[in-house]
Amino acid sequence: MTILEFKRHFKAELSEVYTESESAFLCSVFVQKIVGFDSFHQRRFSDQELLIQDEQSLLRVISELKTGKPYQHIVGETEFYGMQFFVNEHVLIPRPETEELLEFAIQKIQEINVMLNATERNEKSGDSSFLGMTKRTLKILDIGTGTGIIPLVLKRYFPEADVTSIDFSEKALETAKKNADFHQLEINFIHGDYLNFDLEQEFDVIISNPPYIGIEEESEIADSVKEFEPKMALFSPTSDALIFYRKIAEDAEKHLNNNGLLFLEINQKLGPETLELYSNGFSEALLIKDLSENDRFIFGKK
Ligand code: GLN
Repeated sequence: MTILEFKRHFKAELSEVYTESESAFLCSVFVQKIVGFDSFHQRRFSDQELLIQDEQSLLRVISELKTGKPYQHIVGETEFYGMQFFVNEHVLIPRPETEELLEFAIQKIQEINVMLNATERNEKSGDSSFLGMTKRTLKILDIGTGTGIIPLVLKRYFPEADVTSIDFSEKALETAKKNADFHQLEINFIHGDYLNFDLEQEFDVIISNPPYIGIEEESEIADSVKEFEPKMALFSPTSDALIFYRKIAEDAEKHLNNNGLLFLEINQKLGPETLELYSNGFSEALLIKDLSENDRFIFGKK
């Protein structure tokens, strides 16, 4: 079978599962992964015969995709915020909304980082009067690390920062550590149950995309998500869909430094209720929409 013949076969076999453009994209991803040709060379050499073992691997991909398995699980990795991450059934597949959260967070953190550096300069020159902030390394806490996308993107942008990440799932932490090793970035990973975890330090930034789907919403979630992604990463562990947000609000009160920043991804249906939890103790607390105009993020400034 030639590359072009395989492409036609792929599209026809998966026409009930994927649209034409999804099929074209996915086919190109898998041909690249298995044959090693980028999309230009796939077109350039479209009449080239596939090696038997490549053809077999590609046909296996079609069978797997037919089961509804996310393509990222079959490839074993995905791209997020310009970086590659290993993914598997133990972690939530990174979502584009989290890229929006990070873009916003990076911009805001840059502002306080400038202040921390300015404090350092002022102290060196003997002038320590800077908004009452003391000289220190930027300290970031990520709650529910999953693949590690949030701490790793932040560490890449703020290499001097001290980044801590907690997750309940050992398997998720294994994946996050593998991603950290791959990118050669150092994160303090903690294995723990955040809901029963006593924070012992103060942070300048708290960021999280916790499980926020309520039990009653389960029927609205696509089968492919429920079947292939970890329930623990998606659903609140109790009937209270905001349980993580309540604990984060308590921790932010005690463990977020003055001028510290809070960034949360939230359930779009619970915007005002979630914001309400941060109405005290913050000089600023905002509900922010994602690019699809859904209430999706909370930004807080101490
Ligand atoms: N922080 C990870 C992400 O944003 C994991 C989130 C989760 O498992 N709820 O993808």
